[in-house]
Amino acid sequence: MNQPVDKALSSITQVPYWINGAKVNGTTTRSGEVTNPATGAVTKQVAFANAKDIDTAVQAAKAAFPAWRATPPLRRARVMQKFLTLMQENVNELARLASEEHGKTLPDAVGSVTRGIEVIEFACGIPHLQKGEHSENVGTDVDCHTLRQPLGVCAGITPFNFPAMVPLWMFPVAIATGNTFVLKPSEKVPSCSMKMAELFKQAGLPDGVFNIVHGDKEAVDGLLNHPDVKAISFVGSTPIAQYIYETCAKNGKRVQALGGAKNHAIIMPDADLDFAADALVGAGYGSAGERCMAISVVVAVGGIGDALVAKVKDKASKIEVGPGDKKGVEMGPLVTRAHRDKVKGYIDQGEKEGAKLVMDGRGKVVPGYENGFYLGTTLFDHVKPNMTIYKDEIFGPVLSVLRVDTLEDAIKLVNDCPYANGTACFTASGGAARKFETEIEVGMVGINVPIPVPMAFFSFGGWKQSLFGDYSVHGMDGVRFYTRPKVVTTRWTTTDVGGPKLNMPTLG
Ligand code: NAD
Repeated sequence: MNQPVDKALSSITQVPYWINGAKVNGTTTRSGEVTNPATGAVTKQVAFANAKDIDTAVQAAKAAFPAWRATPPLRRARVMQKFLTLMQENVNELARLASEEHGKTLPDAVGSVTRGIEVIEFACGIPHLQKGEHSENVGTDVDCHTLRQPLGVCAGITPFNFPAMVPLWMFPVAIATGNTFVLKPSEKVPSCSMKMAELFKQAGLPDGVFNIVHGDKEAVDGLLNHPDVKAISFVGSTPIAQYIYETCAKNGKRVQALGGAKNHAIIMPDADLDFAADALVGAGYGSAGERCMAISVVVAVGGIGDALVAKVKDKASKIEVGPGDKKGVEMGPLVTRAHRDKVKGYIDQGEKEGAKLVMDGRGKVVPGYENGFYLGTTLFDHVKPNMTIYKDEIFGPVLSVLRVDTLEDAIKLVNDCPYANGTACFTASGGAARKFETEIEVGMVGINVPIPVPMAFFSFGGWKQSLFGDYSVHGMDGVRFYTRPKVVTTRWTTTDVGGPKLNMPTLG
């Protein structure tokens, strides 16, 4: 049985679950540590759910489904509207939590929470978005209409790098369309989700419609294998995305699994190099490179490599690195010591494999924060496609520059990469831009825009190893993912049709 949590204890160290509209402890004996990456200090413990705890959350969501599904869409939208207002009022608090557990700077955290809130704004339009179609007289006296009905209990599994925004890609659309939801946020950054659950309840969401469990693979497997979970939305690294996709397919669940990335920016010789260098520095080092849409590869076309690298180096060397909540800091630490050391290992490897290390962030120390998980901005030039730093997703403040002769070479390089989340082309030529847009095999494309993250009313998702499944998140893909179409054909006349008809009816 789940017990209500002792308030004094929970507010200091324990992050509990959120089930049936309340904080609860589960039956698990396992837990994990949450750290503040700026200081290296352990700040919280988070419960790691076992299959029994997962079942408790799923049963709460299942019990809440019939009434929530029967709630008219406009009433559901009104709850979303109240939630929207509360979220807007709490942007700074959510950003503070995101920065404290992830390490990103406060202004960057405010931006990411705001982009997440835009999905709630989109979901407020659900009475319109969920409408079906109707055609009269598709046959004599026969009409046809479609419905989009919710699936039941849906679950979301999210990564560490956007503690509020990525969960918000999922649950507002799922819940607005009439589903109930179980979220398993990243165990490294659990607190934003807990805060959002409290605000959603305050907005009038019935208990059980939105639930949160925490944990690692055991918790995830509990959701993937639970017969009452109808759909899984996942965002994280490619190997786990593939595992989620395959397991859900085997278990007969609807699934969208967004994976990792290696995003290329192509810089054409006619591009404004200062403009491009500014964009590369922002997109490469913002959020310490821990964005799925970060630019990690720069492809210098023609003879511009030296000039471009000099400009990027100059701008990147001026970036202020430090704790995310300190004024003037532009780049925070990495999420954990283990991840920082993994990224360091990639820099060692790049050097060993012969790439030219133009800027080396390995020695970065922030005075007063010696135990924080910092790394300085790192820039490699003359990187080759067979090098590990090119092939692997590094997910840190490391930019790799490759040089090619032509736009055709650049397009081939991008299209040969198994990741296909985002890409950008910087050019002054409409013809080059059009060729790039047409021929590039990537899900999200920017022309003179380094991080082309679609707004909430479009859908977000990559191709190839960056998305397993047929639907992206939010926008109309989100509505389609969280609903099942039903086509109803009706005849309200008993006019004599001339006896039984055994052949396929046609209008011929
Ligand atoms: P991750 O794959 O390690 O973890 C993601 C989620 O899966 C977490 O909730 C985690 O608890 C769970 N998980 C971890 N190991 C598991 C296992 N063996 N079995 C089942 N579940 C497991 O990813 P991360 O390190 O939290 O996040 C960074 C990754 O997410 C990067 O690869 C990044 O590109 C990707 N990402 C992709 C997008 C996108 O839109 N495509 C967006 C954000 C992040």
